[in-house]
Amino acid sequence: MGAKRRRRVMAQLDQAAQACVRAGAQMTDLRRTVLRLILEAEGPATAYELLDRLKRTRKGAVPPTVYRALDFLMAQRLVHKLERLNAFVPCAETGHQHMAQFLICRECGTVAEIEDRAAARALEHAAGREGFQPRHTVIELEGTCAACSHPASG
Ligand SMILES: [Zn+2]
Ligand SMILES: [Zn+2]
Repeated sequence: MGAKRRRRVMAQLDQAAQACVRAGAQMTDLRRTVLRLILEAEGPATAYELLDRLKRTRKGAVPPTVYRALDFLMAQRLVHKLERLNAFVPCAETGHQHMAQFLICRECGTVAEIEDRAAARALEHAAGREGFQPRHTVIELEGTCAACSHPASG
């Protein structure tokens, strides 16, 4: 990992820690480490991949160690779980309540987070008309990303 990327990860970790302070939540060393591993990952990371990486510095780490940290990070809206991939990605909009939408490329595996408020509102209204109150919504679109649909020629 380059110095530039490392600095960005550190900045994101500080931002996340500040969001926790504002929310009155405690960012422990373990939670911070798990978040760092997610931020450092090249793409979505599964709980077991995170556990493997965590074990390099915490020999005693077991699956519940990781799951509890992930639950906390999700509750603080610092990471999202991609149900389709059963994997975790950092939130692009650290710490604020929003209905995230993900574009998952089947070719290269990249995942982009977008936030289309109009789409989110439309869904909320549609659910509301049914008397349904959504508590947790993740929208995942699977397809081909721009880079994969238009490979550079030559
Ligand atoms: Zn997000
Ligand atoms: Zn792609």
